[in-house]
Amino acid sequence: MTDVDARYALWHGIGHPVTVEEHAGALPMPDGSVLVAIEAATVCGSDLHTALGHRAGPTPSVLGHEQVGHVVAIAPGSVPTTVAGVPVALGDRVVWSVAASCGTCDRCRAGLPQKCRSLRKYGHEASTADWLLNGGFATHCVLLPGTAIAVVPEHLPAVVAAPAACATATVAAALDAVDRPLAGARVLVTGAGMLGVTAVAMAVAAGATVVVSDPNARRRALAVCFGADAAVSPGEPVTAVDVAIELSGYPDAVETAVDSLDVGGTAVLVGAVSSSRPVSLDPERIVRGLLRIVGVHNYAPRHLATAVDFLASTDLPFADLVEPAVGLEGVDHAVVTPPSAGYLRRAVVPSSMLVG
Ligand SMILES: [Zn+2]
Ligand SMILES: [Zn+2]
Repeated sequence: MTDVDARYALWHGIGHPVTVEEHAGALPMPDGSVLVAIEAATVCGSDLHTALGHRAGPTPSVLGHEQVGHVVAIAPGSVPTTVAGVPVALGDRVVWSVAASCGTCDRCRAGLPQKCRSLRKYGHEASTADWLLNGGFATHCVLLPGTAIAVVPEHLPAVVAAPAACATATVAAALDAVDRPLAGARVLVTGAGMLGVTAVAMAVAAGATVVVSDPNARRRALAVCFGADAAVSPGEPVTAVDVAIELSGYPDAVETAVDSLDVGGTAVLVGAVSSSRPVSLDPERIVRGLLRIVGVHNYAPRHLATAVDFLASTDLPFADLVEPAVGLEGVDHAVVTPPSAGYLRRAVVPSSMLVG
């Protein structure tokens, strides 16, 4: 138990207003868990999917899984280590994985911790007395054992660091799924939202030449600002790419990604996280072209480390992609409203005060 005064935005299901709740006093903390005071959170597209009813979500729950904050308490028991292998310490500024995994089941041992048999996901589970603060839109979050935790340098703006926990780390996983060097590769990125613009920046940083495809002219312009060599509308032909990173989820874009590949190319599918029509594939082309099609969902701990390292080292204006932040009272609007034109993320900055 740790005493804490916390506030949190509680989602009650589609069509119901998000309420701001308060907790004062003892908070259950399992052995080896960590309490973080959240500086800022960003609203991921999947928060919008949940709040708009595109997928089922338990209620009531604290949404949000992209956030950064400082460690303010560590429960008794084994002290967790960061992805760098260092014990977590009070005062550390951290981001953490979208889920906690057991580390011992067959999937964890196979290198797929994001598919752990006993996965616990932040921002996706009911808020209960046992695990009350389990999402990003709150002053505090309890990190369970088995959560990947990465230390974030203090110089990094909070709204730049927060997306590391989902968008940036997922892009790192997508690029890691390509089994050839990105240096010198020709890469197609379909979808220029937060993940797409991040994919452009990370692929260019790795030495690739990138063409981006998106129906929105403003987003295409952003992708060019972040290093894309060219930006096209869906339907404009792109040919002979070595790598296609599909982030939009649209079946047409999935087909474009595969159709655009050169011999030996790899298509990494990331965006299709809700049901869609089946896509058509030409198996002869896949065989004769020695093509690879890979699915990537969430990421492994090393990708969180890659994400933080990338954001800490880039000079690109990632802060400009995030709208001015709202407080917890603004979560009700923020989780059902896509970012305004010219932005790719909304942000939430809760105030926090730890007692005891
Ligand atoms: Zn997300
Ligand atoms: Zn497991």
